[in-house]
Amino acid sequence: MSGDASITVAFERRFGGKPLICRAPGRINIIGAHADYNEGLVLPTTTALYTRVAIASRHDQRIRAWSENFGDGAEFDLPTLQRSDNRHWSDYVKAVVSVLQDTACIKSGFDILINGDLPLGGGLSSSASLETALGYALISIGGNEVDRRQLALLCQRAEAEFVGARCGIMDQYAISCGASGHATLLDCREIRHQDIPLPQGMDILVVDTGVKHELAAGGLNERREECEAAVAALQTVLPGIHALRDVTPGQLENNRELLGELLFTRSRHIVTELQRVREAATALAAGDVARVGALVSESHASSRDDYDVSCDELEALVEILSGCRGCHGARLVGAGFGGCAIGIFSPPYLEEAMNTVSAKYGRMLGRAPWMHAVRPSGPVDISLPA
Ligand code: ADP
Ligand code: MG
Repeated sequence: MSGDASITVAFERRFGGKPLICRAPGRINIIGAHADYNEGLVLPTTTALYTRVAIASRHDQRIRAWSENFGDGAEFDLPTLQRSDNRHWSDYVKAVVSVLQDTACIKSGFDILINGDLPLGGGLSSSASLETALGYALISIGGNEVDRRQLALLCQRAEAEFVGARCGIMDQYAISCGASGHATLLDCREIRHQDIPLPQGMDILVVDTGVKHELAAGGLNERREECEAAVAALQTVLPGIHALRDVTPGQLENNRELLGELLFTRSRHIVTELQRVREAATALAAGDVARVGALVSESHASSRDDYDVSCDELEALVEILSGCRGCHGARLVGAGFGGCAIGIFSPPYLEEAMNTVSAKYGRMLGRAPWMHAVRPSGPVDISLPA
């Protein structure tokens, strides 16, 4: 049974009635680590692992939500929605409802069943995938047209303000607006993008370290504060800057003492990552897979040494990936602190690499690691019956 058919059956069993199904892919940030909330450029793509939501309106103000992944439900009422004390998954549902209530999109309660293929907390943005699938579904059952850019902005606000993980716009935007077979070169200041075709001669392998990045929300917020502190210090001598995006490598070097070593290295990661993203977009468009891979590896080194968002397991996995035949480069994805890593491969070597990684990293993990060969997919959408 297809994913859409089985979620429909599960919904009918649990709640009764015919639901609308929406599905949203996962996101792979090829390069552009932590650049989004510094108003920089990022280069993500999407992959055909989906979060599906089945949803039907109710005649009252009740919301009944069930996650197949957690085997757990939650019920609450409009219009007052409060975040849980224990980071419950239903906070993401409440978060999206809460921002859509502000735009008067939601007039009644609903039943919702959620089922996702993505690793949860693995750095492939199951959170943004869930938010956008739910947002798309709620706007659609309200009889409104979805403005994809607006959807991304609303879902980012939901996660940053309601859930409290101060994420940038990359994940929600890539999942809402990405094009099949393409990477999304996103300018996070202008909130505008360009589609960059992914070369035929490039495969991306994703492997999960098996370490949950539960620290990620706290670590992410801490890095954001460090970047804000660096900008505030730099503004005392460079009053025209608004974000680290505006700082040149020369300006940064000249102000090393003013910043102190910690804020200097954090800023250096962002400033150099911006250059790498620009170069990677050019290399991708030219089909220069070897150059893309080299930039991906440089991004990882900078994320580890300057931004300090790697961990032992990611280091071991990136080393194994990088040592495989046909690998052009490897790095952590998402915010880091655990979760998945990616390797950039020439297609003929992909299967061999999967076997090698499975054996070598599997020995360390004590079981076969979860892995996935990226299949760039279309953005969030309604699933129509086959
Ligand atoms: P990532 O986005 O990298 O997967 P996050 O910690 O940002 O990691 O988000 C993971 C959280 O999102 C989960 O712990 C859960 O609260 C919520 N979530 C994602 N997918 C689902 C799902 N299918 N069912 C219920 N909650 C989900
Ligand atoms: Mg997330």
